[in-house]
Amino acid sequence: MNNSMREYVAHLPIVDVHEHHLPEVILQPEVNLLQLFQQSYAGWTQARPYCLPSESRDADPMLATAGPTTWETLAPFLEGSGSNSFVRNLVRAVVELHGNGEPEITRENWPALDVAVRAAHRRPEWRQEILKRAGITTVITDAYNDPLLDPRPGLGANYRSVMRTNSLALGWHPDSRDHNGSSAHELLKRVGLGASSFDEYLTALEKLVNGMAARGQVALKNALAYDRDVNFDAPDEKIARAAWGKVSPAPAERKAFGDFIVDHLCRLAAARDLPVQMHLGTGIIRGSHPLGVAGLIERHPRTRFLLMHLAYPWSRDLLGMAFVYRNLWLDLTWSFLLSPSHFKLALHEAIEVLPNESRMMLGGDNWHVEETYGAMQTARRLIAEVLEEKVTGGYFSRATAERLARRLLHDNARKFFQLD
Ligand SMILES: [Zn+2]
Repeated sequence: MNNSMREYVAHLPIVDVHEHHLPEVILQPEVNLLQLFQQSYAGWTQARPYCLPSESRDADPMLATAGPTTWETLAPFLEGSGSNSFVRNLVRAVVELHGNGEPEITRENWPALDVAVRAAHRRPEWRQEILKRAGITTVITDAYNDPLLDPRPGLGANYRSVMRTNSLALGWHPDSRDHNGSSAHELLKRVGLGASSFDEYLTALEKLVNGMAARGQVALKNALAYDRDVNFDAPDEKIARAAWGKVSPAPAERKAFGDFIVDHLCRLAAARDLPVQMHLGTGIIRGSHPLGVAGLIERHPRTRFLLMHLAYPWSRDLLGMAFVYRNLWLDLTWSFLLSPSHFKLALHEAIEVLPNESRMMLGGDNWHVEETYGAMQTARRLIAEVLEEKVTGGYFSRATAERLARRLLHDNARKFFQLD
């Protein structure tokens, strides 16, 4: 491939619109090589950290402490799942950042890499150095274990956060929690709010949204695809109100409550011009098809929706929606980690189908900076390949390709999240 397009994209700044840089994980001084694998998507090859309706779990395996690194604990990732794209991405990043030019992590070189990882993470400057090396100017983090996190004091002035709203849509009772263990009522209490009736709850949520800017929070984040289906139907207020105060409302009452709150939050977002970022695809996979949210998008034409992950595996359905609905943007995060080859195919189509050049942006979606670095290297390489193919095929000019690259990596996100 033409090196110059790869060079061009390699040097563009990136606004990273989605990470899970949680202070309690990313600021730990003691991190070893095994932990990088456990607390990454490579870790998901061994254990999904979320449950299907038929499953239960005691604690989030990603937040559990890792033991010492051994070849026996690394081998399930490197040999058992060595062909998986998440593993490939992380291996490339680890050997590039911590190694001496070796292409793989092996039985022979892992001890030296482990020592290098541990030494790097003890240096407080490590994280920001790698972000800089990755060309990332701004990070928007989704601290799902602390939905009200102001990331700036702990993580740095180049961070913003989103307010994860899952627990709010499940907040019919003080004891109800989302799949990450968050409780709406505890969140409200933390900022001096409370609700003893459904109407008070709606008012309290409005105040919670009003407090976002002061916390450095630039969007609402709906990841309900990990808690329920995403068929956010026109809310039935009577049934929604019937859920209030019940420990275990009937399934129809839970759904109506969630539908009602999701609608309420979309209205609040529109009135304040705050975007709504939403996970689609995989998750509770029987209920995460992008067309499930079509009704919500139609009911809220003034809300700006940022739909994630190319709704893998339903990217074509999502692209169809992105052509029809003009209040819809695409967050390509994760899609290039899941499947680089599908990503290239989908990006070719997205460039052709989307109504204008403002619609795409990207993020890393990771817990540690090594994986973030690898994600951005992967994204740059794949985007450059697709743009080069488009130029070579005569689809558009080199100048158009470069303008689109700048917008995709940086300009679109700055504008979309009003970061200036
Ligand atoms: Zn994520």
